[in-house]
Amino acid sequence: MFTPHRTTALLAATIGLSLTATTAVAASPEAQGAPGAHSIGDRLFPTLGNGGYDVQDYDLSLRYQPDRTTMAASVTIRARATQTLSSFNLDSVAQQIKAVRVDGRTAAFRLDPVNEKLIITAAVPRGAYFAVKIDYVADRSKNPAPPGTDLPPGVDWPIEAWVNTPDGFATMGQPNRAHQFFPSNNHPSDKARYTVRLTAPSDRTALSAGRLLASYKHGGETTWVYRTDHPIKPDVLPLAVGRFREIKQAGPHGLPVRSYVTLAKAPDGKDYSAAMELTARETPAQLAWLGEQIGRPFPYEKYGVLGLMSGYNGVALETATLSTLGAGLSLPPKDEAPTLVHEMAHQYFGDSVAIGNWDDMWLSEGHARYYERKYAADRGFIDFGAELRSLYEADQKSRTSVGPAGRLKNSGSVLFDTDVPGQLMLVGLNTLVGDATFRHIEQTFYDRYRDGVATTADYVAVANQVSGRDLTAYFDAWLYSPTTPAMPGHPDWKSPK
Ligand SMILES: [Zn+2]
Repeated sequence: MFTPHRTTALLAATIGLSLTATTAVAASPEAQGAPGAHSIGDRLFPTLGNGGYDVQDYDLSLRYQPDRTTMAASVTIRARATQTLSSFNLDSVAQQIKAVRVDGRTAAFRLDPVNEKLIITAAVPRGAYFAVKIDYVADRSKNPAPPGTDLPPGVDWPIEAWVNTPDGFATMGQPNRAHQFFPSNNHPSDKARYTVRLTAPSDRTALSAGRLLASYKHGGETTWVYRTDHPIKPDVLPLAVGRFREIKQAGPHGLPVRSYVTLAKAPDGKDYSAAMELTARETPAQLAWLGEQIGRPFPYEKYGVLGLMSGYNGVALETATLSTLGAGLSLPPKDEAPTLVHEMAHQYFGDSVAIGNWDDMWLSEGHARYYERKYAADRGFIDFGAELRSLYEADQKSRTSVGPAGRLKNSGSVLFDTDVPGQLMLVGLNTLVGDATFRHIEQTFYDRYRDGVATTADYVAVANQVSGRDLTAYFDAWLYSPTTPAMPGHPDWKSPK
């Protein structure tokens, strides 16, 4: 393919300029262009993601003002066209779109609220790098139900993607809500680097992924600028504003560790933040433990824990370089510390090695759970064997109800129902191939796909190659069979219907 501007466009993207490739439009049939696909084709989320381009970089700005839920915002998306485009889509919902420019020129757009799409008309030649700038207003009071959720009238979607706190907000974008925060190609398979500019009153702290490049005051406000060194997927981008205590530590190999614990008071008067700070201070020791287990240093340029004054939907999330959890979770240390190791393990498996499809979620959750429970056992918090057996015994009932981990019946299950079966399968694999080979499989898989995207087939191929055995039937049974497979090493265990 003829890509005359490839080099100059790359350079322009690097230095923050944009230009249109104009000379590629020859009199070929392709010159007419066609709309980019309206979906990336994910079985569990059929409307999510878009085709025809590959995002390289997001440059996102949001302004938080305490007295309102709306935020003036803009995002510049630098992408490469993978076909000649006449129009293309972004995922977007509950935003007021003010203006769209493609390579500096005003572009026509329309919204498809049912499928949560922003459809932009612009001609882009195949192979060209192009920049889309969208000025919009985000609204943190709007948390619409994702497409395909069949809730009765009047019942609100229970998961808040915009998480409002007494002194600011945070975000929970998983699985398919990041496009409430910014128009994006919101699928884990399209990773990109981020520059995030958050503006807030100067008595607050604004947080996002990556390194803090700058913070500067203007009037009574401060703008904080973050930049990621590595590509990450949209659903794990952290965005937060609040009053936090910063905890500065150093991790293994001098890794900067910066954790933030809310200074806001809990509604019930209890001080959850003190307990949370104690747990957050375990981060360097946990990083050392996990790095030793996997045999690889931490994937990113920094790490930390963000503890919010919020229930945070009753979960913790592996937001890249800064895992998020709610002080309102108020877990005892024997649960909170393993939960944070879980999110830390996701930074390797799930974030650095992102999933290619939502059907591959076990790659993320199974690994996180595998290292979480190993850590809990190492610390003496659990009887590993007894816990494993009871999880195995419950597998058939769960499998019948929600489907096997690789073919879930419902998209909502991706957040909750692949971690345990994924863990059981990995523990069984460890038993089948032995500790040294299992570790070698994990390292080979991580090395091959870090900063990228992997599918179930990629993991199976690595396991087969490293072990020198054909383990395909083993993985297929765990991931796709309606019946719980036998547990390696425990032929006497049963999982009743
Ligand atoms: Zn998880």
